[in-house]
Amino acid sequence: MPGFELFGDKERKEVNDVLDSGVLMRYGFDGMRKRHWKAKSLEDALVQRMQVSHAHLTSSGTSALTVALAGAGVGAGDEVIMPTFTFVASFESILMLGAVPILVDIDDTLTLDPNAVEKAITERTKVIMPVHMCGSMADLGALQSICKKYGLLLLEDACQAIGGSYQGKPLGSIGDLGCFSFDYVKTITCGEGGAVITNNKNYYENAHKYSDHGHDHLGNDRGAEAHPFLGYNFRISELNAAVGLAQIARLDEFIGIQKRNYNILRETLSQIPEITFRRVPEGGEENHSFLNFFLPTEKLARRAHRSLGENGVDGCFYWYDNNWHYYRKWEHLTEAKSLGKLPKEVLDSLQDFSKVDFSASDHWMGRTISCLIKLGWTATEVEQRAQKMAEAIKSAL
Ligand SMILES: *Cc1c(COP(=O)(O)O)cnc(C)c1O
Repeated sequence: MPGFELFGDKERKEVNDVLDSGVLMRYGFDGMRKRHWKAKSLEDALVQRMQVSHAHLTSSGTSALTVALAGAGVGAGDEVIMPTFTFVASFESILMLGAVPILVDIDDTLTLDPNAVEKAITERTKVIMPVHMCGSMADLGALQSICKKYGLLLLEDACQAIGGSYQGKPLGSIGDLGCFSFDYVKTITCGEGGAVITNNKNYYENAHKYSDHGHDHLGNDRGAEAHPFLGYNFRISELNAAVGLAQIARLDEFIGIQKRNYNILRETLSQIPEITFRRVPEGGEENHSFLNFFLPTEKLARRAHRSLGENGVDGCFYWYDNNWHYYRKWEHLTEAKSLGKLPKEVLDSLQDFSKVDFSASDHWMGRTISCLIKLGWTATEVEQRAQKMAEAIKSAL
């Protein structure tokens, strides 16, 4: 998945444009910037590639999620449904607004289970936030039907699945809002950065203002701009955006390499009868950033994962025990360990994690192994890796 693997002259040229003009900020300084608008250009490129009407860059994927929620009017006490398997950014972005993260089970897609989602809806629910983890997507058709039935918003966290698609549409473009991360380990990178995409003009208008202190961005005297509502600083810098501008031009090249490498590994592993693969919803095309598969039991998954490590196969994850990606180790959330006092709305409505039953999630995560697909491998290296993986797993069965 990492864009940092293929990083070079194109990125350097874009960054040098910014250094040469000295305008490191995305707004203003029109005369000095020698027509270089890296953030704006990257937004235009995202609009094109993602087939949406609006894109707005932010300082990170986490802030993109917060900005998307804020832009859609989410605030204190609103409930946002999110999966048990994701990155901690999901609940952080919700809590930032005084809204309440409601954790819901995943299924064999390793993303939100639509049946569990429907059961979790209350009169305070405002948003369903599926997270397209490890390169593949939630059942967006089913989630869209639920959103329609209950009048909810769909916000796609596509931070780990940029370049994938569902029924021919780019992931991120299907919900009311979609978010990407361009942090250093994502498929394409800015160093640090993120984006919100949407077809809703109102959400977009809110998003760019909210992420820049409420600036209305009208006219060309920044100091004279009005502030229609409260905001914050979630801006990206021109330097970061410049890197992303070079990288987005290479997105489809990166996805192509990932797909080739993924297919070689999958072909080999599919010859092991005990292995089954993560379900991809009908009409879905992964971005192939990870190969995700199940072993028959938790015990065998642990053994297979250990054996991969012992046999020198790096980059394979057993998320069930991971500190950052699965609810079991999120005691800072489940025990509400905040530095200062949390808003009353959050304290009143957080789930009682000593009682919630996520055994359906445990059933799938306990058996899952995910292997990162790298861009830098040659075809021969992938072939060798596939053999090594197959042997390591077979020896553990
Ligand atoms: C990386 C990531 C984020 C957060 O992005 P940052 O740019 O690191 O803040 C959010 N959600 C998911 C699923 C991610 O993988």
